[in-house]
Amino acid sequence: MKIAPGLLGGGVMYKCDFCHHRLTAGKVPACVESCPNGAITFGTKEEIIKLARERAKEINGYIYGDKENGGTSVLYVSHIPFSEINEALIKQGAGDKKSGKPAMPTFTDNPSDAPEHLVKSLALAPLAGLLTAGITAYKTFTREGSKHEND
Ligand code: SF4
Repeated sequence: MKIAPGLLGGGVMYKCDFCHHRLTAGKVPACVESCPNGAITFGTKEEIIKLARERAKEINGYIYGDKENGGTSVLYVSHIPFSEINEALIKQGAGDKKSGKPAMPTFTDNPSDAPEHLVKSLALAPLAGLLTAGITAYKTFTREGSKHEND
Protein backbone atom coordinates (compact mmCIF):
# COMPACT_ATOMS: atom_id res chain seq x y z
CA MET A 1 0.00 0.00 0.00
CA LYS A 2 1.37 3.39 -0.96
CA ILE A 3 0.40 6.45 1.01
CA ALA A 4 1.14 9.68 -0.87
CA PRO A 5 4.81 8.82 -1.41
CA GLY A 6 5.45 12.29 -2.80
CA LEU A 7 4.43 13.83 0.49
CA LEU A 8 6.38 11.31 2.53
CA GLY A 9 9.72 12.06 0.89
CA GLY A 10 9.47 9.44 -1.85
CA GLY A 11 10.57 6.65 0.50
CA VAL A 12 13.57 8.60 1.77
CA MET A 13 13.86 9.44 5.45
CA TYR A 14 15.11 12.91 6.21
CA LYS A 15 16.70 13.92 9.46
CA CYS A 16 15.43 16.99 11.25
CA ASP A 17 17.58 19.95 10.26
CA PHE A 18 15.83 22.30 12.68
CA CYS A 19 14.10 23.84 9.66
CA HIS A 20 17.29 25.46 8.45
CA HIS A 21 15.44 27.23 5.63
CA ARG A 22 13.11 28.88 8.16
CA LEU A 23 15.90 29.82 10.55
CA THR A 24 17.80 31.57 7.76
CA ALA A 25 14.59 33.49 7.02
CA GLY A 26 14.42 34.60 10.66
CA LYS A 27 11.54 32.27 11.54
CA VAL A 28 11.26 29.60 14.23
CA PRO A 29 11.04 25.90 13.20
CA ALA A 30 7.66 24.85 11.81
CA CYS A 31 6.92 22.43 14.65
CA VAL A 32 7.56 25.14 17.24
CA GLU A 33 5.17 27.48 15.45
CA SER A 34 2.47 24.90 14.80
CA CYS A 35 2.36 22.88 18.04
CA PRO A 36 -1.14 23.61 19.41
CA ASN A 37 0.03 23.05 22.99
CA GLY A 38 3.14 25.19 22.80
CA ALA A 39 5.09 22.14 23.93
CA ILE A 40 8.15 22.81 21.79
CA THR A 41 10.63 25.61 22.28
CA PHE A 42 13.65 26.58 20.27
CA GLY A 43 16.70 28.61 21.21
CA THR A 44 20.39 28.52 21.92
CA LYS A 45 21.62 25.58 23.95
CA GLU A 46 22.28 27.80 26.99
CA GLU A 47 18.76 29.28 26.80
CA ILE A 48 17.15 25.88 26.42
CA ILE A 49 19.14 24.30 29.26
CA LYS A 50 18.16 27.20 31.54
CA LEU A 51 14.51 26.93 30.50
CA ALA A 52 14.52 23.13 30.91
CA ARG A 53 15.90 23.44 34.44
CA GLU A 54 13.25 26.02 35.36
CA ARG A 55 10.46 23.89 33.86
CA ALA A 56 11.71 20.70 35.54
CA LYS A 57 11.77 22.51 38.87
CA GLU A 58 8.21 23.81 38.33
CA ILE A 59 6.77 20.38 37.60
CA ASN A 60 9.14 18.37 39.79
CA GLY A 61 10.17 16.62 36.59
CA TYR A 62 13.13 15.12 34.80
CA ILE A 63 15.35 16.46 32.05
CA TYR A 64 16.63 14.12 29.34
CA GLY A 65 19.26 15.02 26.78
CA ASP A 66 21.45 17.36 28.82
CA LYS A 67 23.82 14.60 29.97
CA GLU A 68 22.50 11.48 28.25
CA ASN A 69 24.40 10.22 25.21
CA GLY A 70 27.06 12.79 25.92
CA GLY A 71 24.56 15.68 25.79
CA THR A 72 22.30 16.21 22.80
CA SER A 73 20.84 19.23 21.02
CA VAL A 74 17.30 18.25 21.94
CA LEU A 75 16.14 18.27 25.55
CA TYR A 76 12.99 16.72 26.95
CA VAL A 77 11.34 17.72 30.20
CA SER A 78 8.93 15.13 31.55
CA HIS A 79 7.09 14.75 34.83
CA ILE A 80 7.20 10.97 34.32
CA PRO A 81 10.61 9.26 34.25
CA PHE A 82 11.33 7.78 30.81
CA SER A 83 12.13 4.45 32.47
CA GLU A 84 8.48 4.25 33.68
CA ILE A 85 7.20 5.10 30.21
CA ASN A 86 9.45 2.40 28.76
CA GLU A 87 8.20 -0.19 31.26
CA ALA A 88 4.59 0.63 30.36
CA LEU A 89 5.40 0.32 26.64
CA ILE A 90 7.14 -3.03 27.17
CA LYS A 91 4.09 -4.33 29.07
CA GLN A 92 2.09 -3.51 25.93
CA GLY A 93 4.47 -5.55 23.78
CA ALA A 94 6.80 -2.81 22.59
CA GLY A 95 10.40 -3.81 22.01
CA ASP A 96 9.37 -7.28 20.83
CA LYS A 97 10.41 -7.64 17.18
CA LYS A 98 7.13 -9.39 16.34
CA SER A 99 5.07 -6.44 17.61
CA GLY A 100 6.90 -3.98 15.39
CA LYS A 101 6.48 -1.37 18.12
CA PRO A 102 9.67 0.23 19.35
CA ALA A 103 10.37 0.58 23.04
CA MET A 104 12.13 3.67 24.33
CA PRO A 105 15.84 3.03 24.33
CA THR A 106 17.43 3.68 27.66
CA PHE A 107 19.54 6.79 27.56
CA THR A 108 22.99 6.38 28.91
CA ASP A 109 25.64 8.81 29.82
CA ASN A 110 28.18 8.94 27.03
CA PRO A 111 28.19 5.26 25.90
CA SER A 112 31.87 5.34 25.05
CA ASP A 113 32.55 6.17 28.71
CA ALA A 114 31.15 2.80 29.86
CA PRO A 115 33.95 0.73 31.48
CA GLU A 116 33.64 -2.16 29.00
CA HIS A 117 34.08 0.25 26.06
CA LEU A 118 37.03 1.92 27.75
CA VAL A 119 38.77 -1.43 28.25
CA LYS A 120 38.14 -2.38 24.61
CA SER A 121 39.49 0.99 23.45
CA LEU A 122 42.60 0.62 25.55
CA ALA A 123 43.12 -2.95 24.36
CA LEU A 124 42.57 -2.08 20.71
CA ALA A 125 44.64 1.11 20.58
CA PRO A 126 48.07 -0.61 20.36
CA LEU A 127 46.72 -3.11 17.81
CA ALA A 128 45.35 -0.28 15.70
CA GLY A 129 48.75 1.44 15.90
CA LEU A 130 50.55 -1.74 14.85
CA LEU A 131 48.13 -2.32 12.01
CA THR A 132 48.59 1.23 10.72
CA ALA A 133 52.38 0.91 10.97
CA GLY A 134 52.22 -2.43 9.14
CA ILE A 135 50.10 -1.05 6.31
CA THR A 136 52.38 1.99 5.95
CA ALA A 137 55.49 -0.22 5.90
CA TYR A 138 53.90 -2.57 3.36
CA LYS A 139 52.97 0.36 1.08
CA THR A 140 56.45 1.86 1.41
CA PHE A 141 58.23 -1.43 0.68
CA THR A 142 55.99 -2.37 -2.24
CA ARG A 143 56.45 1.14 -3.70
CA GLU A 144 60.22 0.81 -3.25
CA GLY A 145 60.11 -2.63 -4.84
CA SER A 146 58.23 -1.42 -7.90
CA LYS A 147 60.63 1.55 -8.19
CA HIS A 148 63.63 -0.83 -8.32
CA GLU A 149 61.86 -3.03 -10.84
CA ASN A 150 61.43 0.01 -13.09
CA ASP A 151 65.11 1.07 -12.73
S1 SF4 B 1 9.35 20.88 11.78
FE1 SF4 B 1 10.52 20.51 13.66
S2 SF4 B 1 11.06 18.32 13.54
FE2 SF4 B 1 10.49 18.96 11.47
S3 SF4 B 1 12.43 19.57 10.48
FE3 SF4 B 1 11.50 21.42 11.36
S4 SF4 B 1 12.46 21.56 13.38
FE4 SF4 B 1 12.78 19.49 12.69
